[in-house]
Amino acid sequence: MKTDIEISQSAQLQNINEIAAQLGINEDQLEPYGKYKAKINLPFSGEKNGKLILVTSINPTAAGEGKTTLTIGLGDAFKRINKSCAIALREPSLGPVMGIKGGATGGGYAQVAPMEDINLFFTGDFPAITEAHDTLSALIDNHIHHGNELNIDPRTVTWKRVVDINDRELRHVIVGLGGRTSGVPREDGFDITVASEIMAILCLSNNLDDLKQRLSKIIIGYNYDREPVTVGDLKVTGALALLLKDAIKPNLVQTLEHTPAFVHGGPFANIAHGCNSILATKAAINYSDYAITEAGFGADLGGEKFLDITSKALGKRPDAIVVVATVRALKLNGGVAKDNLDEENVEALLKGAPNLGRHIKNMKQYGKPVVVAINKFTSDTEEEINALTDFISEQGVKSYTTTVWENGGAGATELANELVKACDNDDPFIPLYNDEDDFMVKLNSVVKKIYGGKDVVLSSKAKKQLTELKKRGWDKLPICIAKTQYSFTDDAKQLGAPKDFTINVRELQPKLGAGFIVVLTGKVLTMPGLPTHPAALDMDIQNDGTITGLF
Ligand code: ADP
Ligand code: MG
Repeated sequence: MKTDIEISQSAQLQNINEIAAQLGINEDQLEPYGKYKAKINLPFSGEKNGKLILVTSINPTAAGEGKTTLTIGLGDAFKRINKSCAIALREPSLGPVMGIKGGATGGGYAQVAPMEDINLFFTGDFPAITEAHDTLSALIDNHIHHGNELNIDPRTVTWKRVVDINDRELRHVIVGLGGRTSGVPREDGFDITVASEIMAILCLSNNLDDLKQRLSKIIIGYNYDREPVTVGDLKVTGALALLLKDAIKPNLVQTLEHTPAFVHGGPFANIAHGCNSILATKAAINYSDYAITEAGFGADLGGEKFLDITSKALGKRPDAIVVVATVRALKLNGGVAKDNLDEENVEALLKGAPNLGRHIKNMKQYGKPVVVAINKFTSDTEEEINALTDFISEQGVKSYTTTVWENGGAGATELANELVKACDNDDPFIPLYNDEDDFMVKLNSVVKKIYGGKDVVLSSKAKKQLTELKKRGWDKLPICIAKTQYSFTDDAKQLGAPKDFTINVRELQPKLGAGFIVVLTGKVLTMPGLPTHPAALDMDIQNDGTITGLF
């Protein structure tokens, strides 16, 4: 088997104009960035109202479960069964690209291309978001330096700086050293760009006006009277929006089988909502009959947030939900060590399968049809696949074994045919909670109905913050829970489907621009570190442009 980059670099791509033409996107609306990438101007001219399919998964393991790969292969499968289809995906962050997980352009024969561009700087969206974020940081410190008219208490500035790489050294820093001319010293820190509230805002905005509205509401810190200070107060909303004027437009690329893909935005799925921009999903819905989008991490994080936050901002609920599962990840959940996942072990598989069972039950609560995609690895045995298929049918849903990594779209045509049928439903969408619900009702809904926990406990800090949120009326916003992706609990080591556990809430952070309250549980890092052997050590580029080590 060739490497991802070898497969990608040997593919014959079509000119982006041809991909746009498939969707009926006219030349006026298309802004090509070279031959194979383009941005789409707003507002969209497409008038379709395609069906929406959400791809989510079981709790991921370190390598990911193949949601992106499956989403891409499924798009290609829709194309093979002659349905008009477009995919909507997140843009990769350099953190995982250079770190351990690799890029986010799929794998094998189910990839979006050109992968070396998409995985690196693409059309400059992440650099623009990084610059916009850091421009705000500079403007805050400049305001404090030049007289501090807004009376900002430097000790309470919550707006950190960002860089799009895992850099643990920057988590906690002191800025403003160097005397009178070099600013006001204060403690600061860096987050990774994908954890920036501006990333979340960009991904939830419908247009530039909406973007500006949201940017103006960002709380950057507090004044000496403990009142919040916003971007609007600093009068820099316009400048930030200007820096994002191109980044807000969704990017169009293609899969290896020439299916159109809108790849745009990439908020973290723990600290933020973890889905591509709603403009990318909207483009897919407006220009095709079937839009397929992926939510980050497992169905307890990205899936729940897509259903309770993103799809509300999008104004459209999914017509069907696909839960991706792998034999390997379920064996890991059943106690098999990471290095032994290639060995057949039906017993461990069935021990880990309740993790999938709970995700299926959870997704069914929203009222829409749920189908499982078993993403097959070459190491999976027939016995294992059969045992898993039986388990899934006992949960009352259908499953399809897909081989898109090996075979591209041909590996998921049965699943695509099933989804065409499943999308044809009028089943009412059942939200997990309503915005008007009390904050603790919302929190308990997610903890009990999604995680399967017993209760939730707030730290004394979080309790104080809740009183404050209620005083200001912010408790009516949706909640965005930051939790480890590996477990239903707030402890990454508790795999499978644990019961009777308590979720511990450390802190609450109002993200008024994004429009949600972040609920921090356990230890969630907003600036990851690089591993012992980062992917960067294996990368190279030759004089003729041949790339190695990107995946
Ligand atoms: P996710 O979106 O769930 O994080 P990805 O689709 O990015 O996962 O896949 C993670 C990694 O696993 C990628 O490197 C991809 O090439 C690889 N992968 C996915 N599915 C398969 C498969 N069926 N066989 C082998 N490798 C796979
Ligand atoms: Mg992915």
